[in-house]
Amino acid sequence: MTAGQTPPRLEIRNLVRVFDGRRVVDDVSLHIRAGQVTCLLGPSGCGKSTTLRMIAGVEMQDSGEIYVDGKLICDTVFRVPPERREIGLMFQDFALFPHLSVAGNVAFGLKGSREEKRARVEELLARVSLGGHIDSYPHQLSGGEQQRVALARALAPRPRIMLMDEPFSGLDNRLRDGIRDDTLALLKEEDAAVLLVTHEPEEAMRMADEIALMRGGRIVQQGAPYNVYTRPADRAAVAFFSDIN
Ligand code: ADP
Ligand code: MG
Repeated sequence: MTAGQTPPRLEIRNLVRVFDGRRVVDDVSLHIRAGQVTCLLGPSGCGKSTTLRMIAGVEMQDSGEIYVDGKLICDTVFRVPPERREIGLMFQDFALFPHLSVAGNVAFGLKGSREEKRARVEELLARVSLGGHIDSYPHQLSGGEQQRVALARALAPRPRIMLMDEPFSGLDNRLRDGIRDDTLALLKEEDAAVLLVTHEPEEAMRMADEIALMRGGRIVQQGAPYNVYTRPADRAAVAFFSDIN
């Protein structure tokens, strides 16, 4: 980094995770600025979720470091606990709390007065067009609606970083493009650094500012979607992208 430049919101350096003697994450480095979406793209089993879990702090790396706004939050001896990392999480199964209303789900984990929490919940639910469902329960909602509640819940505490692991995979094909676009617009407004994990090239092309193409635990290519798509690094990358049509 050159002098005078602000550090990236999220930076991971040389992350390694070994399972049963195999480096499932093998020297992965990335940095993401606030307001930027980076897609970690690669086939099933290449180490995407493990990378994301280490950043979230629910999995420990064997070596490497994680920085937020230039400050070390995790290496092999020092570790900020997950709940203090100011990270929003979203997974394929939206994991809403079934016994809490929509408002209760979005308010979960929020700090501040009742009024402040209520205002934030109402703001976000209006933003995801669920203002009319504030007192509904998750089982009363469609898949697409549940996805939007999960997004609102993850963004409610104004996380510095959003980690999203295949957050659209469970959705109906017909809905998916619209929900991707709406999600992207909201992420941009909230100004988090976003790391979105996906095995679908089309999703990465649609959502990413930057694509990090992963295979066998390593990032094999990284760059703007257009560049990665038009100049794949090798034959395996060509084959992987040929899914898109
Ligand atoms: P992806 O998300 O890209 O599909 P994962 O990060 O889930 O890949 O997994 C990468 C590899 O690590 C896979 O081969 C998986 O079986 C293995 N793996 C993941 N978690 C564990 C674990 N807790 N113990 C042993 N192997 C694991
Ligand atoms: Mg995964």
